[in-house]
Amino acid sequence: LFQKQSNQNNRISVFVRLRPMMKREKEANSRSCVRIVNRRDVYLTEFSSDNHDYLRLKRLKGRHFTFDASFPDSASQLDVYSTTTADLVEAVLQGRNGSVFCYGATGAGKTYTMLGTVENPGVMVLAIKDLFTKIRQRSLDGNHVVHLSYLEVYNETVRDLLSPGRPLVLREDKQGIIAAGLSQYRAYSTDEVMALLLQGNKNRTTEPTRANETSSRSHAILQVMIEYRTRDASMNVINRIGKLSLIDLAGSERALATDQRTLRSVEGANINRSLLALSSCINALVEGKKHIPYRNSKLTQLLKDSLGGACNTVMIANISPSNLTFGETQNTLHWADRAKEI
Ligand code: ADP
Ligand code: MG
Repeated sequence: LFQKQSNQNNRISVFVRLRPMMKREKEANSRSCVRIVNRRDVYLTEFSSDNHDYLRLKRLKGRHFTFDASFPDSASQLDVYSTTTADLVEAVLQGRNGSVFCYGATGAGKTYTMLGTVENPGVMVLAIKDLFTKIRQRSLDGNHVVHLSYLEVYNETVRDLLSPGRPLVLREDKQGIIAAGLSQYRAYSTDEVMALLLQGNKNRTTEPTRANETSSRSHAILQVMIEYRTRDASMNVINRIGKLSLIDLAGSERALATDQRTLRSVEGANINRSLLALSSCINALVEGKKHIPYRNSKLTQLLKDSLGGACNTVMIANISPSNLTFGETQNTLHWADRAKEI
């Protein structure tokens, strides 16, 4: 629907997804401070907890937010995909660019939403599955070719997740900003893509202190290029390329952590740079500014052609229900609220 309304303009849709309470949160006697009503409204409640008397836990104040849609913890992966991203996939098939971001604190459900599991694949896999289905339905009117790249921005360094090696250098050429030497895989089937992405995710930078655990400072970007080639009635070649970027952002809780003088604080400062740059770009787009500060970080440079202009942007803010992470949830909801169009 929204392609018709605004063919040339950028459109930002903002969604919230609440994840279920985890076992360890239940065991820590945490209670839910988030309520989702009518699939749109989010109520956040702060409790004052007196450490000496759990029975006197009392409600302090509440706040109410409204988004394009909000998903309760019972929402399925398919539900989230269909509501947030299906229209954008259709637009990309028409030759537009678009991007989908998951934003939120570490543990809030970003990777589950984007990548998911083999049993419950997330937005990345469902988008590609949908793309293949739509292409098959149209296979008579031309040739579609799908290529994938999967990369990471960590500590302002860009790496290829499908072909790990040296950091990649960003260059500006006729097509825009590209990561020189980034591998592109031709994709044929969804199963193969899931395997590729799971493998790529294993290549994400891990915490130095906790092997096997993806760093909360790592941004993962899946780029899907759809090329469409056909001939018109007078046999002229028509070539159309749409690009879809799906981004599992670094944990937002570190965006403001700048008070340490260790290596970690350097990494924190750089995350700060990419997430802050993304926030500035989105705010500038939402406010309709002419100048969008893409140049401020690797992440925003890479996404320059998929954020502004004739692009559609989807933001999914992931939150946890537990009052133990009230502050992070509040920050995420405020951030998402600011990303909405005025
Ligand atoms: P993040 O990537 O934001 O750090 P994860 O996606 O890794 O967070 O989620 C943290 C944990 O919660 C994981 O064990 C994940 O499987 C689980 N989880 C997150 N969202 C959901 C959900 N909607 N349904 C079920 N489990 C979820
Ligand atoms: Mg994650």
